Amino acid sequence: MAGLRFDLRDAPDGAAALRAEVRGFLAEHAENFTPEIRARSWMGFDRDFTRAVGAKGWIGMCWPREFGGAERSFLERNIVLEEMLAAGAPVGAHWIGDRQSGPLILRLGTEDQKRHFLPRIASGEYAFCIGLSEPDSGSDLASLRTKAEKVDGGWKLNGRKIWTTFGHLCDWMIALVRTSPAPEGGARHIGLSQVLVDLRAPGVSIRPIRDLVGEKGFNEITFDDVMLPEDALVGQEGAGWAQATSELAFERSGPDRYLSSHPLLEAAMTTLQQDGAAAPALGRQVARLWALRNMSVAVAGMLEDGQDPVRQAALVKDLGNDFEQALPNVVRDLIATEDMPEDMRRMHAYLTQIVPTFSLRGGTREIMRGIIARELGLR
Ligand SMILES: Cc1cc2nc3c(=O)[nH]c(=O)nc-3n(C[C@H](O)[C@H](O)[C@H](O)COP(=O)(O)OP(=O)(O)OC[C@H]3O[C@@H](n4cnc5c(N)ncnc54)[C@H](O)[C@@H]3O)c2cc1C
Repeated sequence: MAGLRFDLRDAPDGAAALRAEVRGFLAEHAENFTPEIRARSWMGFDRDFTRAVGAKGWIGMCWPREFGGAERSFLERNIVLEEMLAAGAPVGAHWIGDRQSGPLILRLGTEDQKRHFLPRIASGEYAFCIGLSEPDSGSDLASLRTKAEKVDGGWKLNGRKIWTTFGHLCDWMIALVRTSPAPEGGARHIGLSQVLVDLRAPGVSIRPIRDLVGEKGFNEITFDDVMLPEDALVGQEGAGWAQATSELAFERSGPDRYLSSHPLLEAAMTTLQQDGAAAPALGRQVARLWALRNMSVAVAGMLEDGQDPVRQAALVKDLGNDFEQALPNVVRDLIATEDMPEDMRRMHAYLTQIVPTFSLRGGTREIMRGIIARELGLR
């Protein structure tokens, strides 16, 4: 059970000043955040906004300065993230690079990879996507079949990834692929590696897939004899499974796992502020939000201390997804859609349609609960 501790963290030094600075910056951009954009949260993709965030030093802000970072702490980064999400800012163009691709390259990349990629992620020039899922490999990821074969001068990539968020808009993917066969009768996660894929390379085809709302958010990406240079490998050949699963702690614990519907909660609080009967239900939501926030900050603290909080991250994701997924129904029980102000109604309509995806992306509810159960010794 020791592995499921969440130690409360104090705000870092200078927290109030940083929060005020982020709020000031967001206020300058707020006129561009329509209700539709705010409802999309980290699924809003806007390169110009991302470049402006990069210019402030708020992408890769924990990375060393020599690689374009600002050497700030994970807890300071958390402040920036939660302010961005609370405002409904369109952070999608840098979210993945800042959250997981960049940290992975920083931890395991070669010196050349760090020098090339990190400053370009930090400035907002490069957008990254995640290449894990395949048509027949989602939860059972180790069954993936995309293959990078060693050839003269590099690797030859063949296979298919699916559900790749923003693949059609991004520049690079870090893909988990098979680089050697799994041992006969042995563990399937042996022989997997992570590679950097330039999405504009010959042989890459990208087919957008419409999501529940009818928008092209994710994609199917096919690799047909795509040539990757030798230095496309990130980290150690064959160690891709361990690398990708520890990367998931970055993916699963952040405020993006409980703030996706936040602008709707704020709209409900504004609209219902004079309605005493709604106060207990809204209060319960805020209490849950606060507990989740403390847990997420605790995980940021563990990352800061160099720990690998995969299980805690799974718990934050599972509880956070329940919270953000339930919010449109909770709000609709308090105020009928026809009584909502127009902006709020538009936000509510979008979120009602899209929330089922929240507990799929980043690993499903059942998979999260399996991880947690294992930690509790229940399986
Ligand atoms: C909006 C969105 C964005 C996404 N973006 C990306 C992305 O950018 N990159 C990427 O690689 N992937 C992405 N995904 C894919 C996502 O990671 C997968 O959908 C997810 O891992 C589930 O895989 P699957 O869809 O193949 O479902 P399956 O794995 O087939 O699961 C189907 C159902 O069976 C359940 N199930 C499966 N195995 C078990 C088990 N062992 N025990 C109990 N229940 C089980 C699952 O929980 C689920 O309910 C995205 C998905 C969504 C919805």
